[in-house]
Amino acid sequence: MTRHVHKGNDLSHNAAAKGPENVTRDVASPRVHGFGTSVFTEMSRLANQHGAVNLGQGFPDFPGPSFVKDAAKSAIDANLNQYAVSHGAPRLRAAIASMWNERYGMDIDPDREITVTSGATEAIFDAVQALAGPGDEIVAFEPFYDSYLPSAIMASATIRTVTLRPPDWTFDPEEAAAAFGPRTRVLLLNTPHNPTGKVFTRDELAVLAELCRRWDVVAVTDEVYERIVFDDAEHLPLATLPGMWERTLTINSTGKTFSMTGWKVGYAIGPASLNAPLRAVHQFVTFASATPFQEAMATALEQAPELGYYADLSRDYHWRRDALKAVLDGANLPTLPVAGAYFLMSDISHLGFESDVEFCRWLTSEIGVAAIPPSAFYLDPARAPLLARFCFAKRAETIQRAAERLAMVPERTRAGA
Ligand code: PMP
Ligand code: GLN
Repeated sequence: MTRHVHKGNDLSHNAAAKGPENVTRDVASPRVHGFGTSVFTEMSRLANQHGAVNLGQGFPDFPGPSFVKDAAKSAIDANLNQYAVSHGAPRLRAAIASMWNERYGMDIDPDREITVTSGATEAIFDAVQALAGPGDEIVAFEPFYDSYLPSAIMASATIRTVTLRPPDWTFDPEEAAAAFGPRTRVLLLNTPHNPTGKVFTRDELAVLAELCRRWDVVAVTDEVYERIVFDDAEHLPLATLPGMWERTLTINSTGKTFSMTGWKVGYAIGPASLNAPLRAVHQFVTFASATPFQEAMATALEQAPELGYYADLSRDYHWRRDALKAVLDGANLPTLPVAGAYFLMSDISHLGFESDVEFCRWLTSEIGVAAIPPSAFYLDPARAPLLARFCFAKRAETIQRAAERLAMVPERTRAGA
C-alpha cells in the first residue's frame, strides 16, 4: 500500500503552474506540483458562489466565548503586540502544562516540553519536517486529514496507509503491523478522528504503542478534537500509555476547544528531545504565533474549568450532533455512528452518484448545502467509500436552514440528479 506521494490523491486542480508571460519555464518547484487548492477552500468558495448553507469546511458559525474575546482585546490594549517568545508565550505554556498535570497527572516542563505554533497545521508540518526525510516512511490511518500528505511531500517522505473501515472505522491489527518497517520514522495518528468521528480506544492505542516501541518509531498525534467526544467515548492521548511519553509529540489546537479557528493558536507537547527539532523548524516557518491571541488562550485555559466551559461545550456539541443527525437521517442521507470531532458522515451510495465529489458539487449547487467529499482524505480517491462529510459546529438556525433545503434531496434524487 506504499505509494509515491507525488502520485497520490490528485490534490491538484492545477497542473504545472505557468509563470508570468515572459517566463517560459515552469516556475513552481516540482515539490508543490499537484498541491492545487484545498478541498475546504474549494467547497467554501462553491458554497459562497451558490449561497449554500456551508456544512463543508469545519468551523463554528457561532461566536466563541466572550471571556476569551475580552482577554484578546485586553492583551492588545495592554500593548502585548510584539513578537512572542518563539516557542510560545510563557503564560500560555504554563497554562498548558498545568492542564496536563490536572488531567493526566503528568509533570510537563513548559520551558522545554511545550511549543506554541500557528495552529495545529503548523505543528504537524513542523513535526513532519523535523522527524522525517527522504526515504523515510510515515504511517497514517486512511482517511487522513488533508494536510498530512503535502507535509510528507515537503519532507520528501512517503505515507503508508492503514485503512479504517466503515461503519465503525476499525482497523485490522495485521494491516497495521505490516505498515511498519525499518524505514518507518513516524506514526501520524489523529484521534478524535476527522472525517470519520472515530475515537481510538485504549486497546487500539495499545496495539499502536507496541508497534511504535517495536520499530523505534516516534508518534505524532493530532488531538485537536480532544474536548469534543460523545456519549461514553473517552479521549485518551497516546502519550499517556506506558513508555509512550518519550516517543510522542501530542499536537493540539485551541481553535477547536475555544471555537476560534481563525486565531490559529496550536501547540505541541512532548519530551525535550522531540520539541527541540520541532522548534528548529518552527523558528524558520513562522518564528512565533500571534502574541495577543496566545495571551487570550492562556486566560481561556486558566479560567475554563471554573467557568464550567468544558461541560457547556460538550453539552452544546451533543445537541448540535443530534440535531444534524436527525436532519440527515430524515433526508435519505443516513449517518454513520460518531464518537468524536464535529462531523457526521452520510451514506450516499444509494443515490446514484459516481463519486462523492460529484454528489457534493450537486448538493451545493442544486440543493444549496455544502458538504466535503471524504475522498480528499485518501491517497487514492477511488478507495473512498461513497460518503459525504457534514460539519455540525453550527447554530440551530443554520441547521434548520440546512434542513429546509435537504428536505429536497429525496425528491430530486428520485427524479434523477
Ligand atoms: N488536524 C485536524 C484533524 C483538523 O481537523 C484540523 C482543522 N480542522 C487541523 C488539524 C488544523 O488545525 P488548526 O486550524 O489549528 O491549524
Ligand atoms: N480542519 C477543517 C476541516 O476539516 C478545515 C481547516 C482548513 O480549511 N484548513 O474542515
